[in-house]
Amino acid sequence: MHEVQHAANTEGSQSAPQGALQSAPQGWQSALRVAFRDVGALLRALGLPPAAAAERLAAERFPLVVPRSFVARMRRGDPDDPLLRQVLPVAAETARVPGFVADPVGDLAAARSPGLLHKYDGRVLVVAAPSCAVHCRYCFRRHFPYESAPRGTDACDAACEYVRGDDSIHEVILSGGDPLLLGDRVLLRWSARLAAVPHVTRLRIHTRLPIVLPSRVDEGLCGWLRATRGLGLTPWLVVHANHPAELVGDCADALGRLVDCGVPVLNQAVLLRGVNDDEETLAALCERLVDLRVSPYYLHQLDAVAGAAHFRVAEERGRELLAALRRRLPGHALPRYVREDAGRPHKTPIV
Ligand SMILES: *Cc1c(COP(=O)(O)O)cnc(C)c1O
Ligand code: SF4
Repeated sequence: MHEVQHAANTEGSQSAPQGALQSAPQGWQSALRVAFRDVGALLRALGLPPAAAAERLAAERFPLVVPRSFVARMRRGDPDDPLLRQVLPVAAETARVPGFVADPVGDLAAARSPGLLHKYDGRVLVVAAPSCAVHCRYCFRRHFPYESAPRGTDACDAACEYVRGDDSIHEVILSGGDPLLLGDRVLLRWSARLAAVPHVTRLRIHTRLPIVLPSRVDEGLCGWLRATRGLGLTPWLVVHANHPAELVGDCADALGRLVDCGVPVLNQAVLLRGVNDDEETLAALCERLVDLRVSPYYLHQLDAVAGAAHFRVAEERGRELLAALRRRLPGHALPRYVREDAGRPHKTPIV
């Protein structure tokens, strides 16, 4: 890991200040600003050969974005590194594969007001932020028309109005994009508006930032979480890590800070070929999560999104893996293996 840090510092993207990875705590916005956005710079930092034309084409369709903290947890010189595989554009993405489509989970059909998805009883999901700090190549929203989602206070006001009008809604899920890319003040507006709706008791945040940009878990964020509870709205956080090698160093520290500030933290993972589709890796992921006081919530079957077919693991293989995990893990460390079926009003358990 030290070698990677060194490489990233000396050969990283043009705009990176020297010592960006080692320097003392800096604001999360500056950490985001110096994220890798250039495939060539990332490959050089990891001591890997340059990209071919097909990979550059994949990157044009869905650009590379990956923060330096996440890169620092990759193994230098290993093209098969499980963290790198999650973020590096590859030629296979450009292949058309039958059954893999732009909107596999029916998000667009579930939109009730711009950016608000009401698919499940009792809860709504709001696309609250138009971007992510990392571009996961398997993302089911890689083709989502973020441009058309409302932004800022308009998004907040429209969503809160919808929620106020339906007293069956008890929980609001902020998703994305990554909602923690919103500043603390915008977040406080969300929780204040939602806390004022009597039938809403919980605010759930779906975020990958504690994993990929751990400096986001700062005093401001913990202050906001405490303030939200003070308003009578209970926040829950759901993070997204797929491999135990993600859960080290500054990421492990950030998860510790989150739990310490009193918010329950769950993890969702996606079963991904070449990343975590073996028993040892999944068991290590789950054990590491519970050691960090994070509860493994879901293991998702990959959504059939165009460009991600090379990550697919057959359900039969997934079932075998879950059976193996069930034998060796305590019940609280065992995730629910599920898939999302478009139009169905809940996740489908795979058993
Ligand atoms: C998965 C999902 C939810 C939340 O489901 P839970 O089972 O409550 O975690 C809500 N909305 C959408 C659109 C989802 O895909
Ligand atoms: S963090 Fe989540 S929403 Fe963002 S690119 Fe990754 S999988 Fe998609």
